[in-house]
Amino acid sequence: MKIHGLQKMTLLDFPGKVACTVFLGGCDLRCPFCHNAELIDGTVPAVMDSTELLAFLKKRQGLLEGVAVTGGEPLLRGDELTELAERIRDLGYPLKLDTNGTHPDRLRTLIDHGLVAYIAMDIKNSPERYARTCGLETMDLAPVRESAALLMEGKTEYEFRTTTVAELHDEESFRKIGEWIRGAKRYFLQKFTDRDTVPFEGFHAPSDEQMKLYRAVAREYIPGAELRGVEE
Ligand code: SF4
Repeated sequence: MKIHGLQKMTLLDFPGKVACTVFLGGCDLRCPFCHNAELIDGTVPAVMDSTELLAFLKKRQGLLEGVAVTGGEPLLRGDELTELAERIRDLGYPLKLDTNGTHPDRLRTLIDHGLVAYIAMDIKNSPERYARTCGLETMDLAPVRESAALLMEGKTEYEFRTTTVAELHDEESFRKIGEWIRGAKRYFLQKFTDRDTVPFEGFHAPSDEQMKLYRAVAREYIPGAELRGVEE
């Protein structure tokens, strides 16, 4: 299995753990604010294969406390990802998975087999604005809704998160998201940050005050809603 990136140590990607982050190329969405746009069409060269990754993880036993797998969309790898997750578990590492929620069956397989300790799922925007926020003309939201409902069953630790862009989100976005995932255990509003790799030029981060307003709206439905990337 091809691995398209490896950050050997991070304190940011797996809550409460010193982890490495594994990047898997390929994504079924085309979010115009994507931070990993070079990964989404899956054409960047691989940096290693899963055998080399597992050898690295074996060497780091006792130093790393977890493995975060991100993309792209990792669940596009299907059975290959399940097999990798089993090997990572066999090495004693808990796994954190980032997902856009478009493959609920594959997500359920990982959860049912106890292969994932923490899942971070994107909620891109309100249902009405979802397709546009994902860079698509139309989109069947049913799989995303199914993944969100699956996480809210609470069989594994999870968070929902929304990368918040001034040109794509407003109060109504967070009202509709709040109605959708009302009562979620954890929900983070992350401030968009621009980078050279973001495919669409012209997006901006909301102000800190706007972010706090959006959090207040979200908290009407999700009392634990929090901000990331905002000075308090
Ligand atoms: S789902 Fe994630 S990786 Fe895929 S295009 Fe959107 S932001 Fe990028």
